[in-house]
Amino acid sequence: MIDPGTGSDQIADVLIVDGKVAAVGVGLEADDRAEGAQLVDVTGKIVGPGFVDLHSHVNTIAGQRLQARDGVTTALELEAGLLPVELAYANAQKEGRPINFGFSASWAMARAEVLSGVPAEADFVAGLAILADPAWQGDSSPTQLRAWLGRLESELEDGALGIGILQGYAPRTDPREYRAVNELAARAGVPTFTHVREITESDSTTPIDGTEEAARTAMDLGGQVHHCHVNSTSRRHIDRTLGTIEKARQGGASITVEAYPYGAGCTGIGAAFLAPERLPVWGLSPTNLVLVATGERIRDEAHLRHVRSTDPGASCIVEFLDESNPADAALLQRSLAFPDGIVASDAGPVEWPDGSIDSREWPLPAGGMTHPRTSGTYARSIRMMVREQGAWSWLEAFRRCSYLPARVMDSTTPAFAAKGHLGIGADADITVIDPERVTDQATYIDSTRPSIGIDYVLVSGEFVVREGDIVIDAYPGRGLRGQLR
Ligand SMILES: [Zn+2]
Repeated sequence: MIDPGTGSDQIADVLIVDGKVAAVGVGLEADDRAEGAQLVDVTGKIVGPGFVDLHSHVNTIAGQRLQARDGVTTALELEAGLLPVELAYANAQKEGRPINFGFSASWAMARAEVLSGVPAEADFVAGLAILADPAWQGDSSPTQLRAWLGRLESELEDGALGIGILQGYAPRTDPREYRAVNELAARAGVPTFTHVREITESDSTTPIDGTEEAARTAMDLGGQVHHCHVNSTSRRHIDRTLGTIEKARQGGASITVEAYPYGAGCTGIGAAFLAPERLPVWGLSPTNLVLVATGERIRDEAHLRHVRSTDPGASCIVEFLDESNPADAALLQRSLAFPDGIVASDAGPVEWPDGSIDSREWPLPAGGMTHPRTSGTYARSIRMMVREQGAWSWLEAFRRCSYLPARVMDSTTPAFAAKGHLGIGADADITVIDPERVTDQATYIDSTRPSIGIDYVLVSGEFVVREGDIVIDAYPGRGLRGQLR
Protein backbone atom coordinates (compact mmCIF):
# COMPACT_ATOMS: atom_id res chain seq x y z
CA MET A 1 0.00 0.00 0.00
CA ILE A 2 1.54 3.23 -1.14
CA ASP A 3 0.56 6.66 0.16
CA PRO A 4 2.43 9.55 -1.41
CA GLY A 5 0.73 11.84 1.13
CA THR A 6 2.92 10.44 3.91
CA GLY A 7 5.61 8.75 1.84
CA SER A 8 4.62 5.36 3.21
CA ASP A 9 5.17 2.11 1.32
CA GLN A 10 4.02 -0.84 3.40
CA ILE A 11 2.11 -4.10 3.40
CA ALA A 12 -1.30 -3.22 4.79
CA ASP A 13 -5.05 -3.59 4.51
CA VAL A 14 -7.24 -0.67 3.47
CA LEU A 15 -10.70 -0.34 4.98
CA ILE A 16 -13.22 1.65 2.96
CA VAL A 17 -16.45 2.90 4.49
CA ASP A 18 -18.96 5.17 2.74
CA GLY A 19 -16.60 5.98 -0.10
CA LYS A 20 -13.75 7.09 2.17
CA VAL A 21 -10.59 5.50 3.50
CA ALA A 22 -11.57 4.59 7.07
CA ALA A 23 -8.45 2.76 8.25
CA VAL A 24 -5.10 1.52 7.00
CA GLY A 25 -3.08 -1.10 8.84
CA VAL A 26 -2.21 -4.72 9.26
CA GLY A 27 -4.96 -7.17 10.17
CA LEU A 28 -8.06 -5.02 9.71
CA GLU A 29 -10.13 -8.15 9.90
CA ALA A 30 -13.21 -9.23 11.79
CA ASP A 31 -13.60 -6.36 14.27
CA ASP A 32 -13.37 -3.58 11.73
CA ARG A 33 -15.40 -5.22 9.05
CA ALA A 34 -19.09 -4.48 8.98
CA GLU A 35 -21.55 -7.22 8.14
CA GLY A 36 -21.92 -7.64 4.41
CA ALA A 37 -18.62 -5.93 3.69
CA GLN A 38 -16.70 -7.12 0.65
CA LEU A 39 -13.20 -8.46 1.04
CA VAL A 40 -10.90 -8.20 -1.97
CA ASP A 41 -7.63 -10.07 -1.75
CA VAL A 42 -4.96 -8.12 -3.64
CA THR A 43 -1.94 -9.88 -2.22
CA GLY A 44 1.11 -9.14 -4.34
CA LYS A 45 -0.48 -6.09 -5.98
CA ILE A 46 0.17 -2.42 -5.38
CA VAL A 47 -2.63 -0.30 -3.93
CA GLY A 48 -2.34 3.46 -4.34
CA PRO A 49 -4.43 6.60 -4.86
CA GLY A 50 -6.07 6.78 -8.31
CA PHE A 51 -4.39 8.88 -10.97
CA VAL A 52 -5.52 12.50 -11.34
CA ASP A 53 -5.23 13.58 -14.98
CA LEU A 54 -4.90 17.36 -15.35
CA HIS A 55 -5.14 17.20 -19.12
CA SER A 56 -7.97 15.15 -20.55
CA HIS A 57 -10.18 16.25 -23.44
CA VAL A 58 -12.10 13.03 -22.91
CA ASN A 59 -15.54 14.09 -21.81
CA THR A 60 -17.33 10.88 -22.79
CA ILE A 61 -18.18 7.54 -21.20
CA ALA A 62 -16.16 5.61 -23.81
CA GLY A 63 -13.04 7.71 -23.34
CA GLN A 64 -13.35 7.72 -19.56
CA ARG A 65 -13.52 3.92 -19.54
CA LEU A 66 -10.25 3.71 -21.47
CA GLN A 67 -8.76 6.09 -18.90
CA ALA A 68 -10.16 4.04 -16.00
CA ARG A 69 -8.49 0.93 -17.43
CA ASP A 70 -5.28 3.04 -17.37
CA GLY A 71 -5.74 3.75 -13.62
CA VAL A 72 -7.26 7.24 -13.83
CA THR A 73 -9.98 8.12 -11.28
CA THR A 74 -10.25 11.86 -12.00
CA ALA A 75 -9.96 13.31 -15.53
CA LEU A 76 -9.96 17.09 -15.80
CA GLU A 77 -10.34 19.23 -18.94
CA LEU A 78 -8.09 22.13 -17.97
CA GLU A 79 -5.85 23.09 -20.92
CA ALA A 80 -8.58 23.90 -23.45
CA GLY A 81 -11.35 24.23 -20.88
CA LEU A 82 -15.00 24.49 -21.81
CA LEU A 83 -17.53 27.30 -21.90
CA PRO A 84 -20.03 27.67 -20.38
CA VAL A 85 -18.89 25.38 -17.55
CA GLU A 86 -22.41 25.33 -16.12
CA LEU A 87 -23.56 23.48 -19.27
CA ALA A 88 -20.48 21.21 -19.32
CA TYR A 89 -21.15 20.04 -15.74
CA ALA A 90 -24.87 19.62 -16.37
CA ASN A 91 -24.30 17.51 -19.49
CA ALA A 92 -21.77 15.21 -17.83
CA GLN A 93 -24.00 14.84 -14.77
CA LYS A 94 -27.00 13.95 -16.90
CA GLU A 95 -25.17 11.29 -18.94
CA GLY A 96 -23.28 9.83 -15.97
CA ARG A 97 -19.52 9.39 -15.78
CA PRO A 98 -17.44 6.38 -14.65
CA ILE A 99 -14.72 8.64 -13.16
CA ASN A 100 -14.59 12.12 -11.65
CA PHE A 101 -14.55 15.14 -13.93
CA GLY A 102 -14.08 18.90 -13.96
CA PHE A 103 -13.50 21.81 -16.31
CA SER A 104 -11.58 25.07 -16.43
CA ALA A 105 -12.96 28.20 -18.09
CA SER A 106 -11.96 28.28 -21.75
CA TRP A 107 -9.93 31.34 -22.76
CA ALA A 108 -10.17 30.24 -26.42
CA MET A 109 -13.97 29.93 -26.38
CA ALA A 110 -14.39 33.22 -24.50
CA ARG A 111 -12.12 34.92 -27.03
CA ALA A 112 -13.90 33.26 -29.97
CA GLU A 113 -17.28 34.47 -28.69
CA VAL A 114 -16.03 38.05 -28.55
CA LEU A 115 -13.72 38.17 -31.60
CA SER A 116 -15.45 35.76 -33.98
CA GLY A 117 -19.02 36.00 -32.68
CA VAL A 118 -19.25 32.22 -32.27
CA PRO A 119 -21.24 31.28 -29.16
CA ALA A 120 -19.68 28.40 -27.20
CA GLU A 121 -21.72 25.32 -26.35
CA ALA A 122 -19.32 23.48 -24.03
CA ASP A 123 -18.32 21.20 -26.90
CA PHE A 124 -14.63 20.30 -27.33
CA VAL A 125 -15.01 18.89 -30.85
CA ALA A 126 -16.84 21.99 -32.13
CA GLY A 127 -14.20 24.10 -30.37
CA LEU A 128 -11.41 22.46 -32.39
CA ALA A 129 -12.94 23.72 -35.64
CA ILE A 130 -13.21 27.29 -34.32
CA LEU A 131 -9.49 27.33 -33.48
CA ALA A 132 -8.72 27.51 -37.21
CA ASP A 133 -10.66 30.78 -37.63
CA PRO A 134 -8.19 33.64 -38.25
CA ALA A 135 -10.52 36.24 -36.67
CA TRP A 136 -10.18 34.47 -33.35
CA GLN A 137 -6.39 34.64 -33.54
CA GLY A 138 -6.09 38.44 -33.76
CA ASP A 139 -5.38 41.01 -31.03
CA SER A 140 -8.26 42.22 -28.87
CA SER A 141 -9.30 45.85 -28.67
CA PRO A 142 -9.52 47.22 -25.09
CA THR A 143 -13.31 46.73 -25.21
CA GLN A 144 -12.97 43.16 -26.48
CA LEU A 145 -10.36 42.40 -23.83
CA ARG A 146 -12.69 43.64 -21.10
CA ALA A 147 -15.53 41.60 -22.54
CA TRP A 148 -13.76 38.23 -22.57
CA LEU A 149 -12.01 38.81 -19.24
CA GLY A 150 -15.44 39.52 -17.76
CA ARG A 151 -16.79 36.32 -19.30
CA LEU A 152 -13.95 34.28 -17.76
CA GLU A 153 -14.51 35.90 -14.39
CA SER A 154 -18.16 34.90 -14.38
CA GLU A 155 -17.15 31.35 -15.36
CA LEU A 156 -14.94 31.22 -12.25
CA GLU A 157 -17.94 32.30 -10.21
CA ASP A 158 -19.88 29.44 -11.82
CA GLY A 159 -17.36 26.84 -10.63
CA ALA A 160 -14.67 26.67 -13.32
CA LEU A 161 -11.43 25.10 -12.07
CA GLY A 162 -9.09 27.93 -13.13
CA ILE A 163 -8.53 29.14 -16.70
CA GLY A 164 -7.25 27.14 -19.70
CA ILE A 165 -5.16 29.20 -22.14
CA LEU A 166 -4.49 27.82 -25.65
CA GLN A 167 -1.90 30.52 -26.34
CA GLY A 168 -0.15 28.34 -28.93
CA TYR A 169 -3.27 28.42 -31.12
CA ALA A 170 -3.25 32.23 -31.31
CA PRO A 171 0.53 32.53 -31.30
CA ARG A 172 1.00 36.14 -32.42
CA THR A 173 -1.32 37.88 -29.94
CA ASP A 174 -0.01 40.68 -27.77
CA PRO A 175 1.78 39.26 -24.68
CA ARG A 176 -0.06 41.88 -22.59
CA GLU A 177 -3.23 39.86 -23.14
CA TYR A 178 -1.57 36.76 -21.66
CA ARG A 179 -0.56 38.82 -18.64
CA ALA A 180 -4.07 40.22 -18.27
CA VAL A 181 -5.71 36.80 -18.07
CA ASN A 182 -3.07 35.60 -15.62
CA GLU A 183 -3.62 38.72 -13.51
CA LEU A 184 -7.30 37.84 -13.32
CA ALA A 185 -6.49 34.27 -12.22
CA ALA A 186 -3.89 35.39 -9.67
CA ARG A 187 -6.41 37.83 -8.19
CA ALA A 188 -9.02 35.07 -7.97
CA GLY A 189 -6.42 32.69 -6.48
CA VAL A 190 -6.84 29.98 -9.14
CA PRO A 191 -4.34 28.33 -11.50
CA THR A 192 -4.00 28.84 -15.25
CA PHE A 193 -3.13 26.00 -17.65
CA THR A 194 -1.17 27.03 -20.74
CA HIS A 195 -0.41 25.43 -24.08
CA VAL A 196 2.47 27.85 -24.62
CA ARG A 197 3.12 29.75 -27.83
CA GLU A 198 6.12 28.98 -30.04
CA ILE A 199 9.59 28.77 -28.51
CA THR A 200 12.34 30.99 -29.93
CA GLU A 201 14.49 28.07 -31.16
CA SER A 202 11.83 27.12 -33.67
CA ASP A 203 10.48 30.60 -34.44
CA SER A 204 12.77 33.58 -33.95
CA THR A 205 9.88 35.95 -34.84
CA THR A 206 7.57 34.82 -32.00
CA PRO A 207 6.45 37.86 -29.93
CA ILE A 208 7.97 36.13 -26.87
CA ASP A 209 9.33 32.64 -26.14
CA GLY A 210 6.36 30.54 -25.00
CA THR A 211 7.95 28.82 -22.02
CA GLU A 212 9.76 32.00 -20.94
CA GLU A 213 6.42 33.84 -21.05
CA ALA A 214 4.75 31.30 -18.74
CA ALA A 215 7.72 31.24 -16.35
CA ARG A 216 8.09 35.02 -16.22
CA THR A 217 4.35 35.49 -15.70
CA ALA A 218 4.40 33.11 -12.72
CA MET A 219 7.40 34.95 -11.30
CA ASP A 220 6.12 38.50 -11.81
CA LEU A 221 2.47 38.03 -10.85
CA GLY A 222 2.85 35.48 -8.07
CA GLY A 223 0.02 33.39 -9.53
CA GLN A 224 -0.06 29.66 -10.13
CA VAL A 225 0.92 28.73 -13.69
CA HIS A 226 0.79 25.21 -15.09
CA HIS A 227 2.82 24.48 -18.25
CA CYS A 228 1.05 21.80 -20.32
CA HIS A 229 2.75 18.95 -22.24
CA VAL A 230 6.30 20.31 -22.13
CA ASN A 231 7.38 17.37 -24.32
CA SER A 232 5.32 18.42 -27.34
CA THR A 233 5.86 22.19 -27.19
CA SER A 234 9.64 21.81 -26.58
CA ARG A 235 10.39 18.84 -28.85
CA ARG A 236 14.22 18.73 -29.28
CA HIS A 237 14.75 21.77 -27.02
CA ILE A 238 13.47 20.13 -23.85
CA ASP A 239 16.67 20.71 -21.85
CA ARG A 240 16.50 24.46 -22.42
CA THR A 241 12.78 24.82 -21.66
CA LEU A 242 13.04 22.67 -18.52
CA GLY A 243 16.01 24.86 -17.53
CA THR A 244 13.83 27.98 -17.92
CA ILE A 245 11.15 26.41 -15.71
CA GLU A 246 13.71 25.26 -13.13
CA LYS A 247 15.20 28.74 -12.90
CA ALA A 248 11.77 30.28 -12.34
CA ARG A 249 11.02 27.74 -9.61
CA GLN A 250 14.30 28.49 -7.88
CA GLY A 251 13.30 32.14 -8.01
CA GLY A 252 10.13 31.28 -6.09
CA ALA A 253 7.67 31.09 -8.98
CA SER A 254 4.72 28.74 -8.60
CA ILE A 255 5.06 26.95 -11.93
CA THR A 256 4.25 23.28 -12.47
CA VAL A 257 4.81 21.17 -15.56
CA GLU A 258 3.41 18.01 -17.17
CA ALA A 259 4.49 15.56 -19.89
CA TYR A 260 3.17 12.47 -21.68
CA PRO A 261 5.30 9.57 -22.96
CA TYR A 262 4.64 9.75 -26.72
CA GLY A 263 6.55 11.29 -29.62
CA ALA A 264 3.39 12.36 -31.44
CA GLY A 265 0.68 14.84 -30.50
CA CYS A 266 -2.88 15.23 -31.67
CA THR A 267 -4.97 18.29 -32.47
CA GLY A 268 -7.36 19.87 -34.98
CA ILE A 269 -5.67 20.04 -38.37
CA GLY A 270 -6.68 23.69 -38.74
CA ALA A 271 -4.38 24.73 -35.85
CA ALA A 272 -2.21 27.75 -36.64
CA PHE A 273 1.00 25.78 -36.06
CA LEU A 274 0.02 23.16 -38.67
CA ALA A 275 -0.22 25.63 -41.58
CA PRO A 276 1.98 24.37 -44.47
CA GLU A 277 4.28 27.39 -44.15
CA ARG A 278 4.61 26.87 -40.37
CA LEU A 279 5.48 23.16 -40.40
CA PRO A 280 9.19 23.60 -41.29
CA VAL A 281 9.82 25.57 -38.04
CA TRP A 282 9.03 22.29 -36.25
CA GLY A 283 11.19 20.32 -38.68
CA LEU A 284 8.04 18.64 -40.02
CA SER A 285 6.51 18.02 -43.42
CA PRO A 286 2.83 17.38 -44.28
CA THR A 287 3.52 13.62 -44.31
CA ASN A 288 4.10 13.78 -40.53
CA LEU A 289 0.32 14.31 -40.13
CA VAL A 290 -2.16 11.42 -39.97
CA LEU A 291 -5.95 11.87 -39.78
CA VAL A 292 -7.34 10.16 -36.66
CA ALA A 293 -10.79 9.21 -37.98
CA THR A 294 -9.55 7.43 -41.12
CA GLY A 295 -5.88 6.68 -40.44
CA GLU A 296 -5.10 8.48 -43.70
CA ARG A 297 -1.65 10.07 -43.93
CA ILE A 298 -1.49 13.57 -45.44
CA ARG A 299 0.24 13.22 -48.82
CA ASP A 300 1.57 16.68 -49.58
CA GLU A 301 1.05 20.39 -49.16
CA ALA A 302 -1.96 20.52 -51.49
CA HIS A 303 -3.66 17.73 -49.56
CA LEU A 304 -2.97 19.53 -46.26
CA ARG A 305 -4.43 22.81 -47.59
CA HIS A 306 -7.50 20.96 -48.83
CA VAL A 307 -8.25 19.24 -45.49
CA ARG A 308 -7.55 22.43 -43.53
CA SER A 309 -10.10 24.33 -45.59
CA THR A 310 -12.81 21.65 -45.82
CA ASP A 311 -12.59 20.08 -42.34
CA PRO A 312 -10.45 22.30 -40.06
CA GLY A 313 -11.63 20.54 -36.87
CA ALA A 314 -10.52 17.07 -38.05
CA SER A 315 -8.22 15.54 -35.43
CA CYS A 316 -4.81 14.52 -36.66
CA ILE A 317 -1.75 12.85 -35.20
CA VAL A 318 1.35 15.07 -35.35
CA GLU A 319 4.64 13.14 -35.35
CA PHE A 320 6.97 15.63 -33.66
CA LEU A 321 9.59 13.11 -32.47
CA ASP A 322 10.64 9.72 -33.79
CA GLU A 323 10.05 7.27 -30.91
CA SER A 324 12.16 4.60 -32.62
CA ASN A 325 15.19 6.91 -32.62
CA PRO A 326 17.12 6.47 -29.31
CA ALA A 327 18.05 10.16 -29.13
CA ASP A 328 14.39 11.20 -29.45
CA ALA A 329 13.26 8.52 -26.98
CA ALA A 330 15.80 9.93 -24.50
CA LEU A 331 14.23 13.39 -24.87
CA LEU A 332 10.85 11.97 -23.87
CA GLN A 333 12.41 10.24 -20.88
CA ARG A 334 14.06 13.48 -19.76
CA SER A 335 10.75 15.31 -19.92
CA LEU A 336 9.21 12.61 -17.69
CA ALA A 337 12.19 12.50 -15.32
CA PHE A 338 12.18 16.26 -14.57
CA PRO A 339 11.95 16.75 -10.78
CA ASP A 340 8.33 17.13 -9.67
CA GLY A 341 7.13 16.74 -13.26
CA ILE A 342 3.52 15.54 -13.48
CA VAL A 343 2.19 12.84 -15.81
CA ALA A 344 -0.84 14.04 -17.79
CA SER A 345 -2.32 12.38 -20.86
CA ASP A 346 -3.80 15.00 -23.21
CA ALA A 347 -6.35 12.23 -23.90
CA GLY A 348 -8.89 12.89 -26.65
CA PRO A 349 -12.31 11.51 -27.49
CA VAL A 350 -12.66 8.23 -29.40
CA GLU A 351 -14.03 8.90 -32.90
CA TRP A 352 -15.98 6.35 -34.91
CA PRO A 353 -16.27 6.39 -38.72
CA ASP A 354 -19.98 7.38 -38.50
CA GLY A 355 -18.96 10.57 -36.70
CA SER A 356 -20.09 9.48 -33.23
CA ILE A 357 -17.75 10.03 -30.27
CA ASP A 358 -19.38 8.08 -27.46
CA SER A 359 -20.87 4.71 -26.58
CA ARG A 360 -22.12 2.97 -23.45
CA GLU A 361 -21.08 -0.38 -24.93
CA TRP A 362 -18.09 -2.20 -23.53
CA PRO A 363 -15.91 -3.52 -25.07
CA LEU A 364 -16.03 -0.46 -27.30
CA PRO A 365 -17.68 -0.92 -30.72
CA ALA A 366 -15.12 -1.70 -33.44
CA GLY A 367 -13.59 1.03 -35.57
CA GLY A 368 -13.10 3.69 -32.89
CA MET A 369 -9.91 5.73 -33.19
CA THR A 370 -8.03 8.11 -30.89
CA HIS A 371 -4.44 8.93 -29.95
CA PRO A 372 -2.93 6.00 -28.01
CA ARG A 373 -2.18 8.39 -25.11
CA THR A 374 -5.93 8.31 -24.34
CA SER A 375 -5.66 4.60 -23.50
CA GLY A 376 -2.09 4.15 -22.37
CA THR A 377 -0.35 7.23 -20.90
CA TYR A 378 -0.16 6.04 -17.28
CA ALA A 379 0.61 2.35 -17.80
CA ARG A 380 3.22 3.33 -20.38
CA SER A 381 4.87 5.92 -18.10
CA ILE A 382 5.02 3.37 -15.29
CA ARG A 383 6.34 0.62 -17.55
CA MET A 384 9.07 2.91 -18.89
CA MET A 385 10.06 4.80 -15.75
CA VAL A 386 9.55 2.20 -13.01
CA ARG A 387 10.10 -1.15 -14.64
CA GLU A 388 12.42 -0.53 -17.59
CA GLN A 389 14.48 2.50 -16.50
CA GLY A 390 14.27 2.14 -12.73
CA ALA A 391 14.09 5.96 -12.68
CA TRP A 392 11.06 6.09 -10.36
CA SER A 393 10.18 4.08 -7.29
CA TRP A 394 6.53 3.05 -7.01
CA LEU A 395 6.10 5.83 -4.47
CA GLU A 396 7.52 8.33 -6.96
CA ALA A 397 5.18 7.03 -9.67
CA PHE A 398 2.11 7.63 -7.47
CA ARG A 399 3.51 11.01 -6.42
CA ARG A 400 3.69 12.14 -10.07
CA CYS A 401 0.47 10.51 -11.28
CA SER A 402 -1.81 11.17 -8.28
CA TYR A 403 -0.43 13.35 -5.48
CA LEU A 404 1.24 16.27 -7.29
CA PRO A 405 -1.61 16.85 -9.76
CA ALA A 406 -4.14 16.92 -6.92
CA ARG A 407 -1.98 19.55 -5.17
CA VAL A 408 -2.04 21.76 -8.31
CA MET A 409 -5.83 21.86 -7.82
CA ASP A 410 -5.91 22.54 -4.07
CA SER A 411 -6.56 26.26 -4.55
CA THR A 412 -9.71 25.64 -6.60
CA THR A 413 -11.86 23.70 -4.11
CA PRO A 414 -11.25 21.99 -0.75
CA ALA A 415 -12.56 18.77 -2.36
CA PHE A 416 -9.11 18.09 -3.83
CA ALA A 417 -7.57 17.84 -0.34
CA ALA A 418 -9.14 14.36 -0.13
CA LYS A 419 -7.52 13.24 -3.40
CA GLY A 420 -4.08 12.01 -4.47
CA HIS A 421 -3.34 10.23 -1.17
CA LEU A 422 -4.71 7.48 1.08
CA GLY A 423 -4.79 9.14 4.49
CA ILE A 424 -7.74 8.50 6.80
CA GLY A 425 -10.74 10.36 5.38
CA ALA A 426 -9.31 10.48 1.85
CA ASP A 427 -11.72 9.73 -0.99
CA ALA A 428 -11.57 6.03 -1.83
CA ASP A 429 -10.38 6.73 -5.38
CA ILE A 430 -8.01 3.78 -5.61
CA THR A 431 -5.96 2.04 -8.29
CA VAL A 432 -4.63 -1.50 -7.81
CA ILE A 433 -1.70 -2.44 -10.04
CA ASP A 434 -0.06 -5.74 -10.88
CA PRO A 435 3.61 -4.67 -10.80
CA GLU A 436 4.75 -7.48 -13.10
CA ARG A 437 2.09 -7.10 -15.78
CA VAL A 438 1.23 -3.43 -16.00
CA THR A 439 1.73 -2.04 -19.50
CA ASP A 440 0.06 -0.03 -22.23
CA GLN A 441 -1.26 -1.88 -25.26
CA ALA A 442 -2.55 0.96 -27.43
CA THR A 443 -0.63 1.84 -30.59
CA TYR A 444 -1.13 4.48 -33.28
CA ILE A 445 -2.82 1.82 -35.41
CA ASP A 446 -4.78 0.12 -32.63
CA SER A 447 -5.36 3.09 -30.35
CA THR A 448 -8.27 1.90 -28.21
CA ARG A 449 -6.61 -1.22 -26.78
CA PRO A 450 -6.91 -0.75 -23.02
CA SER A 451 -3.90 -0.99 -20.71
CA ILE A 452 -3.43 -4.23 -18.78
CA GLY A 453 -2.21 -4.94 -15.25
CA ILE A 454 -4.51 -2.32 -13.70
CA ASP A 455 -6.63 -4.87 -11.86
CA TYR A 456 -9.02 -2.78 -9.77
CA VAL A 457 -10.09 0.85 -9.91
CA LEU A 458 -12.48 2.38 -7.38
CA VAL A 459 -14.08 5.81 -7.51
CA SER A 460 -15.58 6.96 -4.19
CA GLY A 461 -15.39 3.36 -3.02
CA GLU A 462 -17.28 1.94 -6.01
CA PHE A 463 -15.63 -0.48 -8.43
CA VAL A 464 -15.22 0.90 -11.94
CA VAL A 465 -12.67 -1.75 -12.90
CA ARG A 466 -12.88 -5.18 -11.30
CA GLU A 467 -10.63 -8.17 -11.99
CA GLY A 468 -9.04 -6.26 -14.83
CA ASP A 469 -12.15 -5.13 -16.69
CA ILE A 470 -14.78 -2.39 -16.73
CA VAL A 471 -17.79 -2.74 -14.47
CA ILE A 472 -20.63 -1.93 -16.81
CA ASP A 473 -23.30 0.32 -15.22
CA ALA A 474 -20.85 1.84 -12.74
CA TYR A 475 -21.12 5.62 -12.94
CA PRO A 476 -19.75 6.92 -9.64
CA GLY A 477 -17.89 9.87 -11.23
CA ARG A 478 -18.60 13.23 -9.61
CA GLY A 479 -18.13 16.77 -10.88
CA LEU A 480 -15.44 18.78 -9.11
CA ARG A 481 -16.35 22.46 -9.11
CA GLY A 482 -14.30 25.44 -8.11
CA GLN A 483 -15.25 27.50 -5.07
CA LEU A 484 -13.96 31.05 -5.08
CA ARG A 485 -12.92 32.22 -1.66
ZN1 LIG B 1 -2.19 21.32 -26.08
